[in-house]
Amino acid sequence: MLFDSHAHINSEKFDNNREELAKWIEESDVDFVMDVGCDFESSVLSVENAAKYDWCYGAVGCHPHEADSMDDETLLMFKGLAKKPKIKAIGEIGLDYHYDYSPRDVQQYWFRRQIGLALELGMPIIIHDREANNDTIQILKQEGAFDTKVLLHCYSGSAELAKEYVRLGATISIAGPVTFKNARRAVEVVETVPIENLLVETDSPYLAPEPYRGKINMPMYVKRTAMKIAEIKGMDYEEVAKITCDNAKRFFDIE
Ligand SMILES: [Zn+2]
Ligand SMILES: [Zn+2]
Repeated sequence: MLFDSHAHINSEKFDNNREELAKWIEESDVDFVMDVGCDFESSVLSVENAAKYDWCYGAVGCHPHEADSMDDETLLMFKGLAKKPKIKAIGEIGLDYHYDYSPRDVQQYWFRRQIGLALELGMPIIIHDREANNDTIQILKQEGAFDTKVLLHCYSGSAELAKEYVRLGATISIAGPVTFKNARRAVEVVETVPIENLLVETDSPYLAPEPYRGKINMPMYVKRTAMKIAEIKGMDYEEVAKITCDNAKRFFDIE
């Protein structure tokens, strides 16, 4: 029993073998996958995948990389997508100061507007924060985001900041890099955050965990991250799989 809380089944990387991928997922320990949108097109695909596959749920939103492509009309179209069946969150949204593909003020503006959309719809938010820790938490607080459920995906901040997020009621999702050799910071986060506040994810097709590092990542590999968390916390793998799956179902409001 595993819930991959963040993957991009909609990625063009799977255009040639999506049916095969679906079969592999169905044969694996993974019972649920959250297919996350990055822009309008991928969010439409996420709606389609959620309708097509039992195990698939969707999130719709505009990634900070694509913030430049946003306008009022597109936001309204996202609102329409968010109301489709099995769409459970607005995401991924946030800030990425590592690549700065969109200007920072534009990223911040559409981050705020999409938080507003989630609050209006009463939906959870999936946050992407890369090298923008301070601005991310500040904007979340200013916009009242913690009135709804907040998920920090592929969390890469400090254990101290993770503690603050948990205090604010947020959930932390751990991705493949925790399995990497020099993952001291991520290990500290797992040690610090109670298991009740943790989810596991692949961010497939990116960031494959060991021993698949450098390959195309797939939702089945989320098992490696759950195994690593079990090792760090001194728990059974089965227990970590079940608790993180229950956490994700509760977070996304899935029966
Ligand atoms: Zn992301
Ligand atoms: Zn992602």
